Amino acid sequence: MNHEKKHVFFRRVSTTGQSLTMQQSADLKYRDKLLRHQVLLIEESAISANKKSTDERPEMQRLISLIKNNRVDTLYAFDRTRLFRDTFEGMEFTDLCLKHQVKIVYTSEGNGHIQSTQDIFLESFLGMFSDMEGKNIARRTHEANKRYPPKKLGYTKIKEKKSYIPDEKKETILKSYFAEVNEITDMEHLCTILNRYQKELKCSAERLISIAQDPFYAGFDLENGENRLPHVTPYMTLQRHKKLQEEKGHLFTTYKKRLEKQKSQDTFAPICGLCKKPMLYRISVIENKSNYSCSRKHERVLMQFDDLSRIIQQLLQETIKNLNFKKLLYDSTLFFRNYKKKLVMEAKAIDHQIKKYMENLILSTNGYSPHWKDDLAYKKLKRSKEERELLLKGLDEANEYMANQKNMREKLETLLTDRLKENSPWLFSLFVRNIVIYPNSLDVEVSNFDYLTDLQKEFVYEVGEVS
Ligand SMILES: [Zn+2]
Repeated sequence: MNHEKKHVFFRRVSTTGQSLTMQQSADLKYRDKLLRHQVLLIEESAISANKKSTDERPEMQRLISLIKNNRVDTLYAFDRTRLFRDTFEGMEFTDLCLKHQVKIVYTSEGNGHIQSTQDIFLESFLGMFSDMEGKNIARRTHEANKRYPPKKLGYTKIKEKKSYIPDEKKETILKSYFAEVNEITDMEHLCTILNRYQKELKCSAERLISIAQDPFYAGFDLENGENRLPHVTPYMTLQRHKKLQEEKGHLFTTYKKRLEKQKSQDTFAPICGLCKKPMLYRISVIENKSNYSCSRKHERVLMQFDDLSRIIQQLLQETIKNLNFKKLLYDSTLFFRNYKKKLVMEAKAIDHQIKKYMENLILSTNGYSPHWKDDLAYKKLKRSKEERELLLKGLDEANEYMANQKNMREKLETLLTDRLKENSPWLFSLFVRNIVIYPNSLDVEVSNFDYLTDLQKEFVYEVGEVS
């Protein structure tokens, strides 16, 4: 059983711990299907991991060596940004996974994220644009439960005793919030209460929900069993906390889900046609809807999110129809070739280093050591060289594959159409540069225009056409 391949969950942990919860919950449904011994967690600190190459990331190195030793069945990561710094690294990594038949599953849902395609060409195409991905997508998460939080709404932290006592200024309000939230009947009721206490406690509605769900306020940590926190003066008993979750928990969850969904949709960033400033994105949790609006010293400009989304959908459909696949494929081939060139040059540089290393070894007066092959520097150089050679070989194969691939166009078209069906922000960021909304119409400016044929550069829709 020891040699059974593992299902590896690779996570990025930032200093605030904020995104870990999100990653954990996203991969939970995959972990649930597995036995404990099949699962391997690798958590990487996100501190400037973005700036470091894979060589300088020990957790990444561990992952790579597991893959090379054929110990990995499937790799789960939240999305590409959790794995790679840039396109080049992404391609190297994809190549490695393909070679060792490692499946890659991206656990992020609904953020316009694209599942791994197991196809080095398509992966590289996606990789070309992966930098765009994520930029438009706001991801907000909740604070993780910690035993000694630096700050906790409603509490004053006594440093000397390391204890938490209710904050005099907020105690009464928070108590009445707990009392009222205990009595909520439906979503509308919950929203009304949240609206009021948001102002009184000067925090977001989301935060208020988290407070209602947080066992810290009962003086407990429930992450692993029931752990009483003796240093915390509770606002309520554990029984009451549990009862609140049992009875109102579904409303809290629905609220958060709706909010999360609406927030994740906010990717269009339209501009107001009258004042040329970004429009405000407003969410109605009760109606589970959102809209873009602006009324900065002018008549109100308003657009329902659903309407805008439908128009963009039409536009993207049109765009894909008019896509110059020939040019797109041609450019991707160029991209491939440049990548290869870069690798060849790197391999040459390493060759040179190895030569120099050998010269030093021979010329050094301390003489010859029979163990020079065990020298770390030599090993490292040799390994790098071997890796480059492997990659070059892989690229040769990929080049050939592309040259012989007749249905590449269909494949790409299918890929894009699938994204279209999912209403992908990625597709949007690829082809839409600007949206300007006027009281009765809107302009959409298309980008990556080089890849489009017979398509007017600007679309003008009358709002009446869609509503
Ligand atoms: Zn405006």
